Amino acid sequence: EERMIYLGYHDDLTGLYNRYYYEEMIIKLDRKDKFPLSIIIADSNCLKMVNDTFGHEEGDRVIQIIADILQDNTREGDVVARWGGDEFGILLPNTSFKSANKIVERIRLSCREWNKGLITPSIALGVATKTDSNQCLKKIINIAENRMYNDKLKNKRSIDNSLILSLERSLLSR
Ligand code: C2E
Ligand code: C2E
Repeated sequence: EERMIYLGYHDDLTGLYNRYYYEEMIIKLDRKDKFPLSIIIADSNCLKMVNDTFGHEEGDRVIQIIADILQDNTREGDVVARWGGDEFGILLPNTSFKSANKIVERIRLSCREWNKGLITPSIALGVATKTDSNQCLKKIINIAENRMYNDKLKNKRSIDNSLILSLERSLLSR
């Protein structure tokens, strides 16, 4: 029975919590007045490229690496969940916007420092914080999503730019 409960709340590939658990917890924390409640939304920038160039097995590995990075940089009581695909959500009860941003910076640093394989994991991150019970949770989630999306666009530009630079270099050296 314990195994069944585990499977119901966890994601197979990463061992993180699943979307179902995440959604139950966000409602629970919201009701319990765990404010400030910060939400981090994370999304891989490179999964599609990795899947297309190296295959799905390597893609799964990227998801696992990202899961480890998120888990290693948060506390036991924080909820780190994989929503499916390359989307992750983190719930940080009793954590201010300022503190949540520190955690985001820690996650970014861990990605940059990752050098155990061919691939450097790249994650887009967005944070928003519900500071009191009057604020609408849906709006807060929306803000986090928009910030993640903006971060993704920024990353995309810098990935594109570095591609252009290396193309230029190879043209010049001919
Ligand atoms: P800090 O790293 O500058 O973190 C400041 C505050 O951000 C923490 O205050 C806490 O409220 C929040 N915070 C930081 N990381 C997390 C996290 O992963 N999850 C959640 N939910 N909140 C987080 P706090 O608790 O008073 O800690 C003060 C300082 O103590 C931290 O400053 C850090 O220097 C140290 N510290 C506390 N726990 C740990 C830990 O597990 N590992 C390390 N390396 N340092 C820790
Ligand atoms: P944990 O609370 O589950 O935190 C796991 C990891 O998240 C920490 O590993 C650290 O990398 C990151 N982390 C969590 N909170 C903070 C923070 O406030 N600031 C920073 N910079 N990083 C944070 P770490 O440091 O190896 O610690 C392993 C475990 O040791 C922690 O697990 C916690 O149980 C305990 N621990 C370490 N430092 C402190 C502390 O200052 N206060 C308390 N109460 N526990 C601590």
